[in-house]
Amino acid sequence: MHKISKLPQVDGDLGWLETAPNSTARLGTRLKGHHEFDVVIIGAGFTGISTAIRFAEINPSARIALVDALRVGEGASGRNAGFLIDLPHNMNFAKTGVEHARSLFKLNNFAIERLRELKDRFSIPSWNDAGKYMAGHEDSNLPGLENFSGMLKHAGFKHDIVSGKDLARRLGTPYYQSAVYTSGNVLVNPAALVRGITQALPPSVTLFECSAVQGVEYGPPNKLRFLGGAITSPIIVQAINSYAEQFGKLAHRIVPIFTYASLTRPLSDEQILRHFDGVKPWGLTSSHLAGTTVRFTDDRRIFVRNTYDYLPELRASGAKLEAAFKNHRTSFEARFPFLKDVEFEYTWGGVFSMTQNHEPVFAKPEEGVYVLSGCNGVGVVKGTYLGYYMAEYMSGIDSEDLRFIMQSSKPTWIPSDPLRLIGARMRIAWEASRAKGDV
Ligand SMILES: Cc1cc2nc3c(=O)[nH]c(=O)nc-3n(C[C@H](O)[C@H](O)[C@H](O)COP(=O)(O)OP(=O)(O)OC[C@H]3O[C@@H](n4cnc5c(N)ncnc54)[C@H](O)[C@@H]3O)c2cc1C
Repeated sequence: MHKISKLPQVDGDLGWLETAPNSTARLGTRLKGHHEFDVVIIGAGFTGISTAIRFAEINPSARIALVDALRVGEGASGRNAGFLIDLPHNMNFAKTGVEHARSLFKLNNFAIERLRELKDRFSIPSWNDAGKYMAGHEDSNLPGLENFSGMLKHAGFKHDIVSGKDLARRLGTPYYQSAVYTSGNVLVNPAALVRGITQALPPSVTLFECSAVQGVEYGPPNKLRFLGGAITSPIIVQAINSYAEQFGKLAHRIVPIFTYASLTRPLSDEQILRHFDGVKPWGLTSSHLAGTTVRFTDDRRIFVRNTYDYLPELRASGAKLEAAFKNHRTSFEARFPFLKDVEFEYTWGGVFSMTQNHEPVFAKPEEGVYVLSGCNGVGVVKGTYLGYYMAEYMSGIDSEDLRFIMQSSKPTWIPSDPLRLIGARMRIAWEASRAKGDV
């Protein structure tokens, strides 16, 4: 039996989940006893849920299990910054060409519209078509913004440049010099969204939460071992993000990267009146790769995300969370010196899977085994469309979009630890030193 040694845990206080209006309902049961299913999907994040919904739509008589080690909303899908990004995140036309960017844009929008339809159908709270700012504070990081704007123009993606006082008025802080604003991005409470979309799972899908796969015997048929239970199934889909390597069918393709977030308590009426009068909720990513992501949320909190880490154990210690908390305070107080007395209510960490060339893993390593990973920090939409098209691939449905995904999902080779660890930590330190005040 192939043993799974690194299991996910709750890293810190999960702010989105705790503040999500739909956080208390029980969604699934613990797996106990022996079960047989036609398909088992491991991982109930955006990727796994999307795979399950689409597979059940195409194959209504299939018996499907969707299992997760945690509760839905406790994984990275419920811990992220909540940006549903329509534009390709890492545009490099010299390497991939404009057509590649346009194809990604089409897929990202497809995923956003699919999530929007579910949001409308089930009245899922916390969805805001607010767009997104990519902003720069340091002079040295403004060329990055100009480069981004140039590429958007070249590909025909609409955007606005917002600077100086106009930008300060929109954000409620004069911290940033300039920003590229794009209107197609959506901001959500990701825990509310990922929990909400489980309502689209039909009765043919059984959801097991708090049920970690502890071992696997590859078949046929495949056998998954749980504490006090097992599942036998001819087909397994691994939609487990950075934990995919644990299952023995993916190697030398992904780098698990930890990052951290904090959420303040809601600002008072007086603080809103004094500092954010007329300011609409907004979301901002940095002009520098290692910079800080910030949001002013619908429920009047400030969200801060920064600090990257390579943690081979795939879990964050208390000391790591403490260090991230301190970094978040520094970044928060630099941007909002007038809110120094506003404390963070929640600080947490989460892991996502990076690939060297930013292409995801969409693979069938052997008969009956499918692997999805490498969402590169944009997995809310990427996981949604990859899961959708994985279900179509498994069902023999061909399309232009599926062919694009299969052709482009070729992540390049990455060495094993300790080389991967050394390389990742050096790159993280180097990028952070260059980002300076944009962290
Ligand atoms: C702080 C932070 C900010 C981010 N910001 C954004 C953002 O704004 N927009 C965006 O698109 N992306 C963002 N990301 C990345 C995004 O969260 C991921 O790309 C996305 O969650 C991937 O979805 P997934 O379903 O593939 O994986 P996950 O959400 O990680 O789901 C995989 C699931 O597998 C489960 N699992 C793992 N091992 C086992 C096992 N042995 N047995 C059973 N279950 C198991 C886990 O519990 C987990 O729930 C961010 C990530 C972090 C950490």
